[in-house]
Amino acid sequence: MYGFRDHLKPMPLTGLRALLQGSSRYSIRMSSAGSIEQTFVQLEDGIQRLTLPLPTGPKHVHCYLANGTLFDTGLGLGDAAWESVDVERIAITHFHPDHVGGAAEAARATGAPVSQGGLDYAQCERVWGSDDWPERMAAWFVRHGVPVDVTDDLIVQGHAFASFIRYAVDPELLYEGSEVEGWQVLELPGHADGHLGFLRDGVLIGGDHLLRRITPAVGLYPESRPDPLGDYLASLERTIELAPRIVYPGHGEPIEDPAARARELIEHHRLRLDEHEASLSTEPSTAYEISLDVFGRELAPTQRRSAAAETLSHLERLVRGGRAARGGDDNRVSYTSP
Ligand SMILES: [Zn+2]
Repeated sequence: MYGFRDHLKPMPLTGLRALLQGSSRYSIRMSSAGSIEQTFVQLEDGIQRLTLPLPTGPKHVHCYLANGTLFDTGLGLGDAAWESVDVERIAITHFHPDHVGGAAEAARATGAPVSQGGLDYAQCERVWGSDDWPERMAAWFVRHGVPVDVTDDLIVQGHAFASFIRYAVDPELLYEGSEVEGWQVLELPGHADGHLGFLRDGVLIGGDHLLRRITPAVGLYPESRPDPLGDYLASLERTIELAPRIVYPGHGEPIEDPAARARELIEHHRLRLDEHEASLSTEPSTAYEISLDVFGRELAPTQRRSAAAETLSHLERLVRGGRAARGGDDNRVSYTSP
């Protein structure tokens, strides 16, 4: 996943089933929707970029290959010809479907071991490997004021999705300071709590930490780190300090001035924090109500939930800065100006 406006939109279950079974009907629909075919690009510094199609959102995701190390694996729709690629190991930036969904298949086809962040793998198992995650997530959204009709399809979609996110079980776990074939492992939390970057010779394989045109989604979700926007802003500051020469992202073109892009994103969130603060009053509002104010009312359910999660990450940042107060109880959480 990337920016919340691009999140996987509800897909008709017939389409999803067809996709799971590799039906050509769905591939025809995908190509007629203008999706990108699988492509290989040799980047200047000896890194190859493998682009795989996505059925929704930006319609593509990039994986990178450097000296036998494959970074990320796409959604796992069975369309990647892994057998034809020389892969000795696989490393995952984060557990979102379009990055980790193909990991088990890529590992099976190549015989390569998989490495994934320690915290990221714990969340990956919790979200994609547990039977009741969609219900727990839906209940949590309801506590933040999201109407039941907006959370209902989360349950259906969540269960349908979980069955085809084939992450690799028991990967080698990576942490800040680990190394993968000369690539320094960086923990860059924010877009995902356990998001990793891989840095070598000024090149950062960045996953969805930094994207060129899309603002990476930073939402608060249940059973996760409490202040993801605070994490993300710190990760952006760290990116400025590290000053990589180039970032190869999960979506879109390479970022040739990563520090400038990081500053833009910091500024974007500064303005967004101001907007959230301005929509607070002394009357308690739920995060859902505030998200209607900030992100508008004309959003499909998937985007509606992502907007609420994005609003929550901003509200919790404001709470920590003394600019908002959280109240309510176990049934309903609300926010006011302090
Ligand atoms: Zn993502």
